This record gives sequence, C-alpha cells and structure tokens, in this order.
Amino acid sequence: KWDDILEKMKVNFDISDPAFNTFIKILKVHSISGKNLTILIDDAKIGSNKSFIEKRYSAFLQVTIEEMTNIKYDITYISKNEINTTPVETFKNTSLPSKDHPFISTKYTFDNFVVGDNNDYAHAASLKVAEEPGDIYNPLFIYGGAGLGKTHLMHAIGNYIIDRDNTQRVVYVTSESFVNEIVEAIRDKKGDGSNSMQEFRNKYRNVDVLLIDDIQFIIGKETMQQEFFHTFNHLYESQKQIVISSDKHPATMKTLEERLRSRFEMGLTVDIKPPTYETRMAILRRKVQEENLSIDDSILDFIASNVSSNIRELQGAITKVIAFSKLRHNDITMDLAKQALSDMIAPDKKKEITIDYIIETVADHFNISTNDLLSSKRSSNISHPRQICMYLCCELTNNTLDVIKKHLNRKDHSTIIHGRDNIKKLLEDTDANSKVAKDIDILIKKINPQ
Ligand code: ADP
Ligand code: MG
Repeated sequence: KWDDILEKMKVNFDISDPAFNTFIKILKVHSISGKNLTILIDDAKIGSNKSFIEKRYSAFLQVTIEEMTNIKYDITYISKNEINTTPVETFKNTSLPSKDHPFISTKYTFDNFVVGDNNDYAHAASLKVAEEPGDIYNPLFIYGGAGLGKTHLMHAIGNYIIDRDNTQRVVYVTSESFVNEIVEAIRDKKGDGSNSMQEFRNKYRNVDVLLIDDIQFIIGKETMQQEFFHTFNHLYESQKQIVISSDKHPATMKTLEERLRSRFEMGLTVDIKPPTYETRMAILRRKVQEENLSIDDSILDFIASNVSSNIRELQGAITKVIAFSKLRHNDITMDLAKQALSDMIAPDKKKEITIDYIIETVADHFNISTNDLLSSKRSSNISHPRQICMYLCCELTNNTLDVIKKHLNRKDHSTIIHGRDNIKKLLEDTDANSKVAKDIDILIKKINPQ
C-alpha cells in the first residue's frame, strides 16, 4: 500500500526514475498516531537529504497520500542519518530521549506560528512557559478544536527550550501513545527479571518537560488515568514543566477523574479559537512566502473565505493549489485554485434567489415582458404569470409580503396573498400533469437548480 502511494506520486508528479530511486524509495513509514504520520528517511547510505526531500517532495507526498487515503496527515520527517543510524526499532524503544530530541518536531516553532486574535493568549502563555519552564504556569493546559495549532505550540515550546539548553530532556507524547506504551509495558513480561513498567515509569519521571498532547484519549480509561496521575504528581512535585492539550476545557471533560481535573486546573488554562479572516490570510501569505511564490491576493481571499474553520485544512488547501500548479506546469490562477479545491469547496455558493430574478425568469418562461408582468393589465395571459410570480416569491424567498409587494409593483399586500393562494389552490385541485403544475415545476428548476 505504501509502495502504491509512492508509485502514484511518481506518476502524478512526473518524477524521474533516478530521482525516484534516490529520494523517494527510501521513504518508509515510521509511525502513525492519529493524523500524525512520521516518515523515516532511510538515507543512512547516501548522506542526509532530509531538508532537500522535505522541500522538494513533501507537498507532493502529502497530496498523494490524501488522494489515496482520504486522510490529511500531518507529516513529520525523521532522517536515519540524523538519528545516527540507530535502527528504527531500538530507536523507538529507548527509554530516554536521545540527544537529538526525536520527540520534538523542528517543523513547529514560535517563529512560524502566526499570532492572531484567536490564539494570542495561548501563544503568550506558551512563550512564557518556554522561557521559564516549571516556574510560572504549571501545568499549562491548552484546549481548542482540531487543527487550530495546539500541537504546533507544544512543539514550539519544546524547540525553544532545547535551543536554549540542549541537555534538557523534553518529551512530547500523545496520550494515545502514552496509553499504548503502558499497554505494551504491561503485556511485555521480561524473562530477565527487569520490569517494563518500571522502565516506562523511569522514562516519564525523568524528564524536564513533558508535553502530552490530546489528553482527551486518556479519559475514561481508569488504569491509564491513574498512571498519568502518578507521573503528573511526580513531575509537578519536582517542578518540572507539564503542558497538556485537549479538545475541551477540563471542566467539560466527562468521566475525567476528579483529582486529575483539579490537577489540570492548578496551572493556567488557555484556549485557541478558530482563526479570524485576518489570521487565515496571514497564514496563507506566510506559506506563499515560504515557498518563494507570488499568488494574487484575490486567490488567497478565495481560499481564506472558503476554508475557515481549521488551519490544517487551510494549509492543506494552499499546499494542494501549489502542488496542482507544479503538477500541471501552470501558473496559479483562480481557475486552477477552484479546480484544485473542488472537493473541499462547493463550486459556487448557491446563488441567492432574489425577487427580481424570479420576475425575470417567470416573464421569460411565459414569453411576456417584465413590464407587462409588473403592470396592472388584467388579461389572463398576464395576470396568471403574475400570480405564479407571487406564489414563487412567497415560496422560494424569505422576503416579507411588504417587500414582495414593492418589487411586484402592487399597492396592497393582500393582492400578493390572494395571488399566492390562487395558485396554491390551483395546484391542490389539479394533478401533477396539469399545465400549472408543470409550469411551476419547470420554473422552480430554472430558479433554483440542484
Ligand atoms: P491541533 O493540534 O490543534 O489539532 P496543529 O497544531 O496540528 O493543530 O495545527 C495544524 C496545522 O496548522 C499544523 O500544520 C500547524 O503548523 C498549522 N498551524 C496551526 N496554527 C497555526 C498558526 N497560528 N500559524 C501557523 N501555522 C499554524
Ligand atoms: Mg494536535
């Protein structure tokens, strides 16, 4: 399956055989946790190409994976070369983070975090914690919806701390992996008398900073909550910084053990909200800048206006547009953007139905002029379409009778009611094959396609 994805990417993006063999074939799945996919670059033999591969191929890979799996993964790359040719398996099982800080993704920093009204509080608190870990806000609890930057901030804290002091043991873990490690430790009874559970505890109780992401996965699992509770206390008492993220405020997390809840609320709780339009534009502009491209603001506006709830999706959208243009060797135009995002964005927002549009459509359908339709002529070839018009304005729009009356050039809104009810009655008294029923059916389709 993985090989299929790589093959597909080769075809999609027209990657030459030598490039494919050198740079793409050496990509392996290292681990998947939720929507986080870590790819191992098996470049031990050829020297590190991590930054090159990330720069050149990561957008292609992301798009292809999404195409094949329908899942938008957040991809992190680790390079075998960089982790000093340690085989993956032992790397995964080392009980202490290596000097290379494999748990922290250098991709996420404060520098590339766009601050806006929606996240400035969370950003400020995170920065403070990174500057003075363990001292001020402990624990720091960050909550908010998916794809809003919680994980980004946690890694940013980690990177900041490591940058200042490379000996700090910073561990990032999702609560899911935390749980899995416990399960494995319990299952793994060693023959040599050593105790996996003890190893697990040593690992987490000997860190300087613990970043535990998406804590919501731990709730309701009692043994796990208990284990975490002890880890928490141990670290807290030795004034080690703990940062927790969740999709909800601790107070609204059902079945969260009470004593954990009160622990979580001991420090500072901050939220991240969905990005405002300005933040969305800023994020898009930044991405465009990073890629050394120039994309017209109207196109960024199109993306920012249509992808509004989630920064992950916003980035996915712009990445896709960029990849699309590379793939087709085309400039980035509005048409290309619309095409690239057709599955994310409804092509054209449903046209709003206006009274004037109904008037025009009805007049056209009955082959009369709009002037006649709006006149006071009483001949049935005109008054009948006029009444249909009244009926449709009442049924298809949310306008008040007063507004409809004005548009249709009538003095009284009782005229509108009368016309509407007349047509209603006609429809009730006849079957679906009657002329009036067919007319109405066609008109509705014309006015409101789909
Ligand atoms: P969460 O953990 O809240 O689900 P993430 O931290 O994984 O969200 O963010 C999703 C994506 O959006 C990541 O690629 C992240 O870098 C990006 N992102 C989120 N917030 C910002 C921001 N304020 N500035 C720049 N990128 C951001
Ligand atoms: Mg996250």
